[in-house]
Amino acid sequence: AAKLGGRDRIAVFDPSMYTAAVMEAEARTELERGLGADEFTVVYQPIVDLPSGLLIGVEALARWQHPTRGLVGPDSFIPQAERTGLIVPLGAHVLRVACHEVAGWHSAIPGAENVRVSINLSARQFQEPDLVDTVRAALADSGIRPHLVVLEITESLLMHDVDATVVTLHELRELGVQIAVDDFGTGYSSLSYLRRFPIDILKIDKAFIDGITDDSDDATLAEAVVGLGKALRLSTVAEGIEHADQQEMLSQLGVTYGQGYLFARPGSADEIAEMVRAAYRKQVGGQ
Ligand code: C2E
Ligand code: MG
Ligand code: MG
Ligand code: MG
Repeated sequence: AAKLGGRDRIAVFDPSMYTAAVMEAEARTELERGLGADEFTVVYQPIVDLPSGLLIGVEALARWQHPTRGLVGPDSFIPQAERTGLIVPLGAHVLRVACHEVAGWHSAIPGAENVRVSINLSARQFQEPDLVDTVRAALADSGIRPHLVVLEITESLLMHDVDATVVTLHELRELGVQIAVDDFGTGYSSLSYLRRFPIDILKIDKAFIDGITDDSDDATLAEAVVGLGKALRLSTVAEGIEHADQQEMLSQLGVTYGQGYLFARPGSADEIAEMVRAAYRKQVGGQ
């Protein structure tokens, strides 16, 4: 590797560094092209009430409809978008589309006027001074009621720049939106830290849900997180529920909401709108 710093050292040319830089530049150009060509879309995954299973909201998840690579998932472009800063326009796009589409369901689907939408924000977006303005504009333009919008942030973001994050979260909360801590349990936030943040929801990471029915340690950890949520008067969402016995156990533990392939995989706006319609048709019919 090239050696930096020492006065009498020589920077050695390293072809692998050159390759990495070229690949990064290409990735950036390709992301910019995709954004310009409007190739980024949003899919939605239902979030249900435990134990009833009623759909109460959706999480918006980014996808790239790439002309040659097909439908690309976020794990292959979000990290690059974060490194290049393109997550800022991409995140704003997801926010606008999701608010707009879910507001459309509120007015078009009888009984569905309280369906919530959760939107992921990355740490990079929090460094932008106009994040709050961007969110305010997305709310105003779509006409969505702000309390139906949940912004998901990760636990590691919370620990990064505590004072600035607390201020921004308060500003976002003043717009009327709710805040969820995503992938909770994978970071290292302590109870005393967590209380400083104005948050509403804890999303328990799939890693804890996977083993809960056959690993007593996972079950104990899940129970501890639920207890933490209760102590802080937060609602809880369990992520990645794939089996009915997990749903059963989590609802017995008192987890408020669930999300996972057991209930539904992420689907296009049209597919999930149909699912919302069916859920609330049943509701209305059952009254
Ligand atoms: P996340 O926010 O934790 O979203 C949940 C992920 O778990 C989604 O993956 C979802 O499809 C997946 N999932 C849900 N239920 C199950 C299950 O039962 N089994 C399994 N195996 N997986 C399940 P996806 O859509 O690939 O998204 C991955 C991550 O990419 C998200 O994790 C989020 O961190 C990030 N991401 C997605 N969209 C955006 C976005 O618009 N902005 C930002 N900043 N990040 C995003
Ligand atoms: Mg999320
Ligand atoms: Mg998550
Ligand atoms: Mg996750």
